[in-house]
Amino acid sequence: MQESTLWQAVLGEVELSVSRGNFVTWFKNTQLIREKDGVVVIGVPNIFVKNQLERKFNDLVLKVLAKNGLLPERIEYKIHTGMAPAPRRDEDVLKNPGGFREASKTPKSSIANVTHSYRQGLNERYTFENFVVGGSNELAYAACQAIAKKPGKKYNPLFLYGGVGIGKTHLIQAVGNAILAAKPSTRIVYASTEQFVQEFVDAMRFKKNTSDFAGFYRSADVLIVDDVQFLAGKEKIQEEFFHTFNALHQANKQLIMSSDKPPKDIPTLADRLRSRFAMGMTIDMQNPDFETRCAILHIKAGSQDINLPQAVAEFLATRVQSNVRELEGALNQVLAYCDMRGVEPNLQTVSLMFESGKARPKHISARHIVERTAKHFHVSMEEILGPKRDKDIVVPRQIAMYMLRSELHLSFPKIAHELGRKDHTTAIHSIDKIEKELSYEGLVKQNVSELKERLYA
Ligand code: ADP
Ligand code: MG
Repeated sequence: MQESTLWQAVLGEVELSVSRGNFVTWFKNTQLIREKDGVVVIGVPNIFVKNQLERKFNDLVLKVLAKNGLLPERIEYKIHTGMAPAPRRDEDVLKNPGGFREASKTPKSSIANVTHSYRQGLNERYTFENFVVGGSNELAYAACQAIAKKPGKKYNPLFLYGGVGIGKTHLIQAVGNAILAAKPSTRIVYASTEQFVQEFVDAMRFKKNTSDFAGFYRSADVLIVDDVQFLAGKEKIQEEFFHTFNALHQANKQLIMSSDKPPKDIPTLADRLRSRFAMGMTIDMQNPDFETRCAILHIKAGSQDINLPQAVAEFLATRVQSNVRELEGALNQVLAYCDMRGVEPNLQTVSLMFESGKARPKHISARHIVERTAKHFHVSMEEILGPKRDKDIVVPRQIAMYMLRSELHLSFPKIAHELGRKDHTTAIHSIDKIEKELSYEGLVKQNVSELKERLYA
């Protein structure tokens, strides 16, 4: 088969397994350049696409290639200068190979591409439309809406704080998505604090200077930084963040931050940063009330085309009160349970499921799950519990954490402990990552379903 025909076939299939937005953004302008000696080279228009394909879609591409008869050992994503329609960007990328996401001015003609790259950190799943507003979050919601209408004007910076899984990320990403929808040329930069830290560290280590890094963040029109509590104890990074903050704030650019606690309670945060964070609007978000929880369940079920009976929503909203992430987890569990058995999610099934404890297979221990996961991936227990950061160990480790959460509902600290980790935020982030991967058809999803199937076989 000709390379282009083969690639068309691959793209056709990829299109079916990722969202429309993802497809257009990451796959549209790609091509198969060559296949030789076990290496498939795929041409991509810019560094953003390269990064994203490598990080997020590599497994999927491998899988679809295999379906089409190609079983390469690895894929190389190459920035391909001959590719339309992003001439300017390619130049920039070539000047700065392997460097930071481009932050220079781009001509109007390639605005569409800019939009895509600046969407990089945003997940289009998080919108205002699918965010349920109730007493616990209405103030935060209103502030975010006001910002989306006029970024940089009011509430700058916005500092949202509240416990885990109550919708902070959803809401601050919704701001970014709404601004982009209204004005696609806006430079939105969304970054988790961890990402900010990692990029800073990499810049110091590999490039010995941080000017590209600084330039990238400082060229944003809207900078959204999630979970800034992770700046605690990181002096150098706080300093960098301080300068970024000032540069943007002085230029009337919008800053949005989230944290699990208010600025005054973030330990070892430099005073000057603390006061900057608090100089705009600081809002706390609470766990949603019963009605809001029910509405969230309806929306989440609806997004999977499932009509959830009100009685089931009420049952779950009563049972799971801790936070929305848990609530969503319980709902997904119910839907999977019903799906597997071909029954409707009605009150009888759901209460039976909870009452009989079938939802929580108590006979399966945490140790057992970790062992099963390790075995599934041909990784030793020593490796999965150990400190190694190789990808072929990290992913199984993350999946093991996810499994402990989804199957045994263990707390994050407990999960971290089971995997020999001290810091429970590692568990939160690992599980987050796997949950994100599960939202599309890739190897992770396939492996997780296989694991679950075998666990209950
Ligand atoms: P946080 O960042 O506060 O830890 P997230 O924003 O990640 O929490 O929310 C966890 C999950 O709950 C997400 O899937 C999010 O879509 C959902 N969620 C939280 N609050 C709401 C809400 N009010 N309406 C709809 N979904 C919500
Ligand atoms: Mg979050």
